[in-house]
Amino acid sequence: MREAPDFDQAAAEETAPQAPSEYMPQRCFRCGSDENEVPILPVRYRGESTWVCTRCLPPLIHG
Ligand SMILES: [Zn+2]
Repeated sequence: MREAPDFDQAAAEETAPQAPSEYMPQRCFRCGSDENEVPILPVRYRGESTWVCTRCLPPLIHG
């Protein structure tokens, strides 16, 4: 039994501040999934800075 837990992983994830006023989920340019669904990575594509999700990354890598 814990007296005063100073770190609760689940609660921390739920309440982690994400710059609430400015936070806008980024979308994968390829499939449109946003970062609330899948991890999104920054990528350069055709001269633009955009985002790609981890599901779309392997096909990109393998061409
Ligand atoms: Zn994607």
